[in-house]
Amino acid sequence: MPVPPPIPVVWSPQTRRHEPMREVWVGVPTDGTELPERVDRILDATASRERVEATTHDDDVLRRVHAPAFVDHLRTIHDEWLRGPYVELVGQDRVVPYVFPTEAMTQGMPPSRAVATHGRAGQFGYDTMTLVGPGTWEAARAAVDCALTAVDLVGGGATAAYALCRPPGHHATRDGYGGSCYLNNAAIAAQALRDAGHATVAVVDLDAHHGNGTQAIFWQRSDVRYGSLHVDPGAGWFPHFYGHAHETGAGDGEGATRNLPLPEGTGDEPWLDAVRELATYAAGADALVVSLGVDAAAADPESPLQVTADGYAAAGRVLGSLGVPAVLVQEGGYHLDTIGGLVAAYLDGHEHAG
Ligand SMILES: [Zn+2]
Repeated sequence: MPVPPPIPVVWSPQTRRHEPMREVWVGVPTDGTELPERVDRILDATASRERVEATTHDDDVLRRVHAPAFVDHLRTIHDEWLRGPYVELVGQDRVVPYVFPTEAMTQGMPPSRAVATHGRAGQFGYDTMTLVGPGTWEAARAAVDCALTAVDLVGGGATAAYALCRPPGHHATRDGYGGSCYLNNAAIAAQALRDAGHATVAVVDLDAHHGNGTQAIFWQRSDVRYGSLHVDPGAGWFPHFYGHAHETGAGDGEGATRNLPLPEGTGDEPWLDAVRELATYAAGADALVVSLGVDAAAADPESPLQVTADGYAAAGRVLGSLGVPAVLVQEGGYHLDTIGGLVAAYLDGHEHAG
């Protein structure tokens, strides 16, 4: 059997520019864990692979996956914040919302545009952990270019391509950001694969957390299926409101979403059973996007799952054996000393499948 060429690593130095500094959690500023150094740790661990710098793509797919008004907001809001009084007044140089026009406020009435920058800050964000600072837009936009360049490589004949996206994306919805995510790289890759002529695309999300953004974007579509395994939101985990087994899609997308919530402490064997179930579910799709979060690993500070590097390698073999063109998109993974090895293990498994 011919050996497939090694999976290339698509990256951009711009993805280092987003520095979260801190997250506001239950009202308290805490140190962020989604750090620029994640990029370098993954680059180090994949140094033997062909490295491709992302090329610039226009906003076409981006503005179809996300609402243009949201994209424009994210591009401009930090500059606008700096023109306001917030640094001088309270020493805040990051965009931090304090009011959110959720259903609790809107009650079916269309809200008017908030004039104040600090009012508008909550319109396109849904939590207080995901701050916008200098370089956030540039990094998030570069991550989109990484995903789209990986799609190009697959279109050019690569069996699979890995996009070292940072910040991650799977919590970003059509209309907003949250969960340390700003633009949904995996959803954009899936849409670009559809545009390239793949009739159906399966997104398999291995991140420790449910990808509520990706699920929402494709909720009513049958041409992009979304399957995820993740720590059970019913056990109290982010994103809290979504990721339950009863969420299966709606309208044309009824049945196209599959969620496999897992108990805290889940290790390799039951986790891999869930990966195999998602692979069965994804079989028959013409292309695959893997939301490759490695925060399900035992050492990761952001989740209680207990998956090993061997587990990630085995997951790579399972999904690689689907034998369809695949774009592998980096999502979470926050333990700096092991993140690179976990990504490398998955890539090795994926290319040595079957
Ligand atoms: Zn995660």
